[in-house]
Amino acid sequence: MANKANKVDIIIIGAGIAGISSSYYIQKNFPHLKYKIIEARNDLGGTWDQMTFPGVRSDTDMYTYGYSFNPWPGSIIGMGKEIKQYQVDTAEKFNIKENILFNTHVKSLSWKNKTWITKTSKETFHSQYVVCCTGSRDYREPNFPKFKDEDKFKGEIVHTQTWGKTRFKGKDVALIGSGCTAVTMTPAIVKEAKSVTLVQRSPAWIVNVDGSEKSNRLYKTFETLIDYAYSRVFKKHYKKKVLSQYSNYYSHDNIPSYDYWNQRPACSLDNDYFESIKSNKVTVEHSGISNWEKNGLKLLNGKSIKCDLAIMATGLNAQLLGGIDILVNDKKVNLNKTSWYRGMMFSGIPNLFAHTGYINFSWTARCEIVSERICKTIKYMQKNSYTNCVPKYKGEKSKPAIEANYVLRSIDKFPNRSYKFDNANYLNEYIQFKMSKINDGVLNFQ
Ligand SMILES: Cc1cc2nc3c(=O)[nH]c(=O)nc-3n(C[C@H](O)[C@H](O)[C@H](O)COP(=O)(O)OP(=O)(O)OC[C@H]3O[C@@H](n4cnc5c(N)ncnc54)[C@H](O)[C@@H]3O)c2cc1C
Repeated sequence: MANKANKVDIIIIGAGIAGISSSYYIQKNFPHLKYKIIEARNDLGGTWDQMTFPGVRSDTDMYTYGYSFNPWPGSIIGMGKEIKQYQVDTAEKFNIKENILFNTHVKSLSWKNKTWITKTSKETFHSQYVVCCTGSRDYREPNFPKFKDEDKFKGEIVHTQTWGKTRFKGKDVALIGSGCTAVTMTPAIVKEAKSVTLVQRSPAWIVNVDGSEKSNRLYKTFETLIDYAYSRVFKKHYKKKVLSQYSNYYSHDNIPSYDYWNQRPACSLDNDYFESIKSNKVTVEHSGISNWEKNGLKLLNGKSIKCDLAIMATGLNAQLLGGIDILVNDKKVNLNKTSWYRGMMFSGIPNLFAHTGYINFSWTARCEIVSERICKTIKYMQKNSYTNCVPKYKGEKSKPAIEANYVLRSIDKFPNRSYKFDNANYLNEYIQFKMSKINDGVLNFQ
């Protein structure tokens, strides 16, 4: 049994963008409620604390990625360290930091007798509500494809998610992957590495961002969403437009096989990627990998790539609710048997809210509207003296949100249905969250 000191009203799990956003809105709406943030890492920032590989930065504009309640003070694209510092500053400014319990891993969540019991690596907490701000990926295991004969390779292999103190200066580097991470990393390592071979099995869409662009939140919101809608409706025309705009880059061997926006496009900043691959130190290979060799990699196209450092920019493994075991009245929940209610709750799981982001727009923007909706739901419950709310199993059969490999690989871990969750339309969700009733017939209250 937890002791009295471990009783709070709300447990928030995770101290990244979502955790800080949730805390801000909870404090603002319920100054009398006690909440605690439980964070496995030893600092806040989530993604931006963990990702330390060279060049790490945002791909979406910081006007919309910054919090509306504490606008981003820097330029249009934020570097990883700057985004982390911005979160630290925000948490300090709004007295959020003092509510965080660091170095504490949530092991399980169990709903019993109208209470959530949160078991952590240190203490147990009792609360009426839980807000999961655990991000979208497995923090412990990134996607690390295995190839034959790894034990024969004499060099070092590192994944970008666990970069640590990896050194690349003076080394022959193979950078495996073609997504956002590889695109931001290439210019950051080219100067100091001896050589860089980019191993790209399937080319990605890459566009340029002008780092000196000055804008504002409202303009960027409409610009991004109109551009997305245009690219979806006029797929062929949009593809042609991008190909002609970047005709110096795209040629027969590097045109992506998928439509623009089927996956989030990668961003070059002030043409840094496009310029860096012109360096005579850089070679681009459009091939998969066959196996490791003593001095490097053998590609499926038959070429051998010499390297003493192989960087796997091969992405993440998607994960919901931080992989935490969830029990409702002693029965373990299988998320794949649930329905995702408005992308913020799960059928059959009472009083548990969770954040996720957009595929085509800034994550923070969704965190804020979901945080407000959570507060509205709690207010509605308080007003009507309800203690529980739980969504019904209802909605459309789930489709992959995006054709990215990390989503397709994990599809059986996600809810099999979803109700009114539009992860590509911020404006629609913004209106829905503001206008629709809390008691919408799908949420059951007791
Ligand atoms: C390199 C990179 C660049 C990106 N760029 C963009 C971008 O430009 N725009 C965009 O919108 N999105 C981007 N993203 C997505 C990014 O993950 C989100 O924008 C956002 O940072 C997610 O915030 P979050 O708070 O939801 O989750 P996270 O940042 O993942 O934080 C989750 C926190 O929960 C903690 N946690 C998890 N499980 C437990 C547990 N069991 N117990 C205790 N604590 C736990 C973790 O330690 C972590 O601190 C990017 C992602 C990466 C990896």
